[in-house]
Amino acid sequence: HTITRPPPTPSPLRFSKFFQANLRILVTGGAGFIGSHLVDKLMENEKHEVIAVDNYFTGSKDNLKKWIGHPRFELIRHDVTQPLLVEVDQIYHLACPASPIFYKYNPVKTIKTNVIGTLNMLGLAKRVGARILLTSTSEVYGDPLEHPQKEEYWGNVNPIGVRSCYDEGKRVAETLMFDYHRQHGIEIRIARIFNTYGPRMNIDDGRVVSNFIAQAIRGESLTVQAPGTQTRSFCYVSDMVDGLIRLMGGDHTGPINIGNPGEFTMMELAETVKELVDPTVQVKIVENTPDDPRQRKPDIAKAKGLLGWEPKITLREGLPLMEDDFRQRLAVPKKQNN
Ligand code: NAD
Ligand code: UDP
Ligand code: UDP
Repeated sequence: HTITRPPPTPSPLRFSKFFQANLRILVTGGAGFIGSHLVDKLMENEKHEVIAVDNYFTGSKDNLKKWIGHPRFELIRHDVTQPLLVEVDQIYHLACPASPIFYKYNPVKTIKTNVIGTLNMLGLAKRVGARILLTSTSEVYGDPLEHPQKEEYWGNVNPIGVRSCYDEGKRVAETLMFDYHRQHGIEIRIARIFNTYGPRMNIDDGRVVSNFIAQAIRGESLTVQAPGTQTRSFCYVSDMVDGLIRLMGGDHTGPINIGNPGEFTMMELAETVKELVDPTVQVKIVENTPDDPRQRKPDIAKAKGLLGWEPKITLREGLPLMEDDFRQRLAVPKKQNN
């Protein structure tokens, strides 16, 4: 950067004698799908104290039950659209519903969470001198006209559509991150997350992998939304968490794409789930929702080159791990000889 900016405020914790070796880490949205897996990973390091903040809109205490009562862990019911006063060294800012049915349910709240929530976490980062990582999204590329998507691509986004509360909200959140960085010297990291799946996804959250697995387990038809040729690239959650931690620990602000470049049509995904979970279920084409992106696949050259990160778990390896978790929660054991 050629921009002259004020030095960041030193973290009161980083320089305090008592906490010298420890990092106190805030995870907003910590009771959610990715957030709770991130908390698990961070808690494995005995030098970390983790504070999870969540309003439980789409997350649940259940996802964190193994840490409740642990001396290095704290869970706070809090809505990030309200100011938050805590003392931390790092902030992983995930709070925001990620599934279209939930973020469209109360779009005004979604955009408030993205804009006011991110502003508050940046104000907090500024006050205590913390490094802050935003989980942005591949949706900032909209219905992309470049394929695969590189970080330099500015996107093709409808500003007034039903998805705008989410994708335009995240775009403003990215802008806020960079303005706080340039204006106040805040240390920022931006991850552009591509579709992620794994255990603990909400069973009925409407996202495609959770829908197909739950449908196959229940013996229902898999609902492929028309035309079925649209593509997505699916990253297993442990790979995602690993990428986020590397980005936070590294020297690059990003934005950096974190996702799995393996690209599948929704019809291919349905056929794979059918084959792995229950070959007797039907696949049916149903109506799609407006503004559905036709294709999406990350270019992960930056993540590879700058973070030394790439995903390890293929879709065929990850789907059965998710199936096990869904079977347990739905109380439907796998049939023998299936
Ligand atoms: P999730 O819905 O499981 O988790 C989000 C968490 O944030 C939930 O626990 C929810 O209760 C909490 N939350 C929502 N609004 C809040 C508010 N105002 N105050 C406090 N807590 C609030 O979703 P996820 O899949 O774990 O996604 C986590 C982050 O990753 C989100 O920022 C999402 O935009 C981003 N992301 C996810 C994906 C994906 O495929 N899962 C893709 C791109 C980006
Ligand atoms: N904020 C917060 N926690 C803090 C410090 C600030 O939630 O520890 C909020 C604060 O309420 C404000 C936002 O972050 O709404 C932006 O703070 P900043 O200091 O950058 O701006 P200002 O308060 O001057 O508008
Ligand atoms: N989709 C589908 N069947 C479903 C749910 C979703 O075919 O039951 C399709 C949807 O049309 C989209 C893709 O799967 O093309 C991914 O949708 P999802 O809501 O999981 O994520 P996003 O659109 O945010 O990538």
